[in-house]
Amino acid sequence: GEARKLETIPVSDHDETTTIDATKSDHGFQADVARLLELMTHSVYSERDIFLRELVSNAADAIEKLRHDALSDEALAAKAAAPLVTISIDKDARTLTVADNGVGMSREDLVAALGTIASSGTRAFLDDLEKKGGEKSASLIGRFGIGFYSAFMVAEKVEVATRRAGASDAFLWTSDGKGSFQISSLPLADAPDPGTRVTLHLNAESDEFLAPSRIEEILREHSGAIPIPIDLVEAPG
Ligand code: ADP
Ligand code: MG
Repeated sequence: GEARKLETIPVSDHDETTTIDATKSDHGFQADVARLLELMTHSVYSERDIFLRELVSNAADAIEKLRHDALSDEALAAKAAAPLVTISIDKDARTLTVADNGVGMSREDLVAALGTIASSGTRAFLDDLEKKGGEKSASLIGRFGIGFYSAFMVAEKVEVATRRAGASDAFLWTSDGKGSFQISSLPLADAPDPGTRVTLHLNAESDEFLAPSRIEEILREHSGAIPIPIDLVEAPG
């Protein structure tokens, strides 16, 4: 069944400044996801750069979904007019962010898409792993394309800020990939309108992905066929 749980966040009586966010929830990953993340974080797989291909491909999929929805919903047409993927590097914060102005996700979308195995590629990967045994996992990662969760090969923490097209609320999904994720509401001013912003807090082994030249190289190699403009920006140091 579904391994999700809702928890009340304990708040100290003496901390007057703490605001209780009743919308904040803690969720356990589905068992298969937890297993996959365990593999990802301890991966000795050398082609870790495929995480970018996966995030850019999700951004492009989301933009395509919004374009499709806009065909039957006039209110969305303006939002779908200038599709763009923006990759930002912040060397000081050691973050790499992939943002899109695509369809975005609701709270329910987040729980289903980033808490269970949504991808058929990922399912096939796990099935094959079952047959072949754990020691072959590294060689299988690239072949199947394990989707969003590959971010945890290079990140110790991932944040997903998102607003579904047409929605009047936005959400922040956060996880360190160690069994659970949190969802809280996000002020609209801090959210894409609409779209999704995936921020990777890079782990100690992933400094290479803070170099724009390295990112450009990976994009050329793995994302050349994406039919949407991709901007690369560096946070002013
Ligand atoms: P797949 O892309 O094969 O479905 P992923 O693991 O890459 O598998 O992504 C899982 C799901 O998460 C997607 O199907 C989509 O519903 C959701 N998702 C991921 N990234 C985004 C994004 N940038 N915008 C909207 N939805 C997204
Ligand atoms: Mg994908």
